Amino acid sequence: MNKAPYISVLSIVLILSGCGNFAGKNAGQNEDVLPETTAPSTDIRWLTLEDPSCLQNGSSIPIANATIYEWDGYKTSPKVVPFPGRTVDQTDFGTINVMGAAINYTQNYKCTLNNAGERKCVDNTKDKTENNWLRICRASGVYGRDSIEAMTLTAMHYTEAAYNFYNSITGNMPGITKSIMISQPKINREIIKTNGDVKNRVDSDNAAFAELPGSAGKPSYGLFMIYPTTQRWFATNKNNLWEVPFVMQHEFGHHVFSHYIKDKANSIGLSLKSSSELQSIMPNPDKTSRARMSLTSSADTAQLALDGINEAYADLYGYFSGNSARDQLRGIECLAVSRDPSSPVTKGGQPKGLDQTRIDIYEGRRSASTTTNDCYEPAFDDEHDIAVALGQPLARFIETLAPQANGNFRARFLLVWATRMQGLINQGSSNISVDTLVRELILGAKSLVPNTSLACSDLKPRISGLKSAVAACNL
Ligand SMILES: [Zn+2]
Repeated sequence: MNKAPYISVLSIVLILSGCGNFAGKNAGQNEDVLPETTAPSTDIRWLTLEDPSCLQNGSSIPIANATIYEWDGYKTSPKVVPFPGRTVDQTDFGTINVMGAAINYTQNYKCTLNNAGERKCVDNTKDKTENNWLRICRASGVYGRDSIEAMTLTAMHYTEAAYNFYNSITGNMPGITKSIMISQPKINREIIKTNGDVKNRVDSDNAAFAELPGSAGKPSYGLFMIYPTTQRWFATNKNNLWEVPFVMQHEFGHHVFSHYIKDKANSIGLSLKSSSELQSIMPNPDKTSRARMSLTSSADTAQLALDGINEAYADLYGYFSGNSARDQLRGIECLAVSRDPSSPVTKGGQPKGLDQTRIDIYEGRRSASTTTNDCYEPAFDDEHDIAVALGQPLARFIETLAPQANGNFRARFLLVWATRMQGLINQGSSNISVDTLVRELILGAKSLVPNTSLACSDLKPRISGLKSAVAACNL
């Protein structure tokens, strides 16, 4: 299969990874701290090719096994895995579902404040952006941990595993699109502060997903982006995010959500975040710059609901892909415990769940009471906070309904949910809220398992802010 159609589409990423719509609209006063998750350019742990001659004048060869590097919560170890590696376009490297991996991808942004106090980032790279496609010339598939080859093989392995998991779920919707990967993008931001000082930052310590549309009859595809690791992160956490199986499985959860929901959402004037910008696994850093109180229309509520449920969905999908194992996020800064669907409390001990106060904050009827910069603790003003609040209650709901089942059977509840969400979205944006979207999970679960009373009695008090979802449990 030819990868050429994808190459031109790569430049679309330029638009996506700039300042997202939301950040662009609302970020302003916090120029000195924004963007917090990006690091000074001197702190990045840049990996290099271990076999540069392969990229220069070699050709990829099919491989059957590869050495990947896996984080187990305590340490990262090499692991030999079966690997469906193949040659793409005569020279480049891909798997069955990942058409290639772009490396040496660079974008440069210049960010300033305009007169209205809004941050504005201009892409200085424009059409000059280039990339190489990774090649793999070693039949053994063995590369050292600190190489672009091992980084990419590891992320490709987990992505391919996520495709296999999806294909194993009974009743899945066929036609989920293939993907490409960007390994270690260099996204530079030159931030010019109001006093004239300049900060140079590079996006790091993150992973992201985008769903890019096809053009002129060419297919759309998923884009998985794995950012470089900072020295600080590596010294503290001892891992890279791509070594954590949950991370790519979470991103793939967005791919599944998009597969089911994107067209429906577009048809009523809503969009998925992954269609308008890169959707990252880490919580958004600019929490205090949110302007939720000005969001009042039902379309706003519907959009927030889709964004929040998308994140919760991705966490649940990642968790069930890991067969509901405990502590899949152990050792991962910002994610451990708080984003772990096996933990009933956040890292700081707050019980998970969505009561009236929390949903009022998320939907803009009430201000967040804290402006904490602790990325573990939700303020309920970010879509990732909906994942914190709902991940464990909904995971336990499904696990109670399917106590003996493996992850693949539990993930079926997620696909039935997505199908029911399609039907709800068809009814128009005035029907869509976090409440009604969660209600569809409960109604879908009732179609799979007749007796939901035990699971519902556990869930209801924990989602007391979601009235129609609670009512559905009482049916
Ligand atoms: Zn996400």
